[in-house]
Amino acid sequence: MMQRTTGKTYKERFLLWLLAAVLVCTLFLPFAQGVLQGAAEDTTANGVFAPESAAENNSQAIENDKKENIIDYLCYFIEDLLMFDINNLDPVRVSLAHFFAGYDGQLVFIGNWENGRSGSFGRIMGLHKNVLNTGSITWLSEILKHEHGHYEQYKRIGLIKYIFAIAIPSLLNDPDDYYSQPWEVTADILGGVTIHRHSAGSEEAGIAYLNNVIKADLFSFLSSALK
Ligand SMILES: [Zn+2]
Repeated sequence: MMQRTTGKTYKERFLLWLLAAVLVCTLFLPFAQGVLQGAAEDTTANGVFAPESAAENNSQAIENDKKENIIDYLCYFIEDLLMFDINNLDPVRVSLAHFFAGYDGQLVFIGNWENGRSGSFGRIMGLHKNVLNTGSITWLSEILKHEHGHYEQYKRIGLIKYIFAIAIPSLLNDPDDYYSQPWEVTADILGGVTIHRHSAGSEEAGIAYLNNVIKADLFSFLSSALK
């Protein structure tokens, strides 16, 4: 029998990481599909490399479009690669990307996944196409700041606490005062977002929540979260 010491046993560590891996896969599967779907739509939109033959309707045209699409994908990918800068702070540069861009230390994937929401998970940010489609750079900038605020939370609390204290509550809740929720409001504060109105007392409550998560022992935190 393995003697339980003050630290975690290997079995406990293994189960924790297994749980984290399953959750990450569940969160990212629709996200990956969305990136591909967004890319597919990009090649049929009026982009720089978009095919002009949208009206043509015979099978030859469709075949040609397929070939053009593959070239479009490649051109878009190379464009993104050439424009890529992980430390980029300019939202315009993100708005010009097709599939991916850099923003303030994060890798930003652009896609059109079903739930329509943008999100952040560690160094990876998922930016939904609908944010770019508004055409407002101010709006895009504030969304990038908010999502980057989630990265700041992540840096303070780590992967597993982030999954339980931030990612899951934000996925499960979508109230009117979304940005006043304890797991959301500190993303606004840490990211420097100015356009969201927070309900009275929510900022203090959010800061207290984050501090509690930072202090919490992982196992007592997990057992209370799972109760
Ligand atoms: Zn958020």
